Amino acid sequence: MENVIILGTGCAGFTAGIYTARANLNPLILEGKQPGGQLTTTSEVENFPGFPQGVDGYDLMDNLRKQATKFGARVENAFIDRVDFSDDCKTLYSGDKSYKAKVVIIATGAAPRLLGIPGEQEMYGGKGVTTCATCDGAFYRDMEVVVIGGGDSACEEALFLTRFCSKVTLVHRRDELRASKIMAERTLAHEKIEAVWDSAVEEILPGEDGRVKAIKTKNLKSGEAGEIACKGVFIAIGHLPNTQPFEGILDLDTNGYLVPANGSMVKTSIPGVFVAGDCADHVYRQAITAAGMGCQSAIEAERWLAESN
Ligand code: NAP
Repeated sequence: MENVIILGTGCAGFTAGIYTARANLNPLILEGKQPGGQLTTTSEVENFPGFPQGVDGYDLMDNLRKQATKFGARVENAFIDRVDFSDDCKTLYSGDKSYKAKVVIIATGAAPRLLGIPGEQEMYGGKGVTTCATCDGAFYRDMEVVVIGGGDSACEEALFLTRFCSKVTLVHRRDELRASKIMAERTLAHEKIEAVWDSAVEEILPGEDGRVKAIKTKNLKSGEAGEIACKGVFIAIGHLPNTQPFEGILDLDTNGYLVPANGSMVKTSIPGVFVAGDCADHVYRQAITAAGMGCQSAIEAERWLAESN
């Protein structure tokens, strides 16, 4: 049986790994479907303390991985689809394979939210619909694209895409961006970016080649229908927490986020099970806050193991 299993290799998971490894707990970190987490799909991270020039998201995660493994954390690839926390010895299942641990730190993060409109699934990944400008932006050199959303992610995606694309249309359902002031101003001031306000995207239309040709929009104030020709659709409308294996076992809020218990930020109602990062935080959702929760959960795990041994 393992002392500590950490689920997830984002900022929260690796920080928990660094702390539990340095506490000689020999943690096992299980890496899910997105090694390195969401930051590996971001370009420059400008707000992680200690990097006045900014840091590439992939490099930051690679450094966290090196730091955790340097102190003895082990990383294994396994997507956990089921858990049993009914015993002191917690069991985690990945298909037919199972893992047992005294402590589990859940840092499974969140995944991009999709619109659920016609055309989205059909053209997702490779045919023009994507959730990652960093991954796919370069494929749209000299082309017109749309970005959907009004938060920091949408602004970041739109600004990143101006490096390649001839025009970026930002489609938002309201007439004001949710993004931070600095990002909103930078985005709206960019000569290649045009904002389309108060508009919902109702359908993504394919061309004869089966790839994106245009989006159909509806103005939510006037009801007027519109169409925007584009080769790429970048969806940036927030995230859904990766918490499905814990449904019915741990407390989740109505949006599926794990809810810590007993006034703590990282303890759950089950002793020895802790949470960290975006799977349990719909408010801050920052790399640095995820890292902070990873640190807290590791310290709580260490205390809990010391008390229960
Ligand atoms: P977010 O702040 O939740 O914004 C999501 C955006 O998508 C909102 O504008 C929302 O519209 C829109 N939206 C949601 N569901 C929609 C739907 N079904 N149809 C159309 N539009 C929809 O998410 P985020 O931009 O991913 O940011 C998440 C967190 O990460 C935030 O705290 C953000 O500050 C942070 N972040 C920071 C940086 C940075 O500092 N560099 C970069 C990226 C993200 P409404 O505005 O109408 O709700």
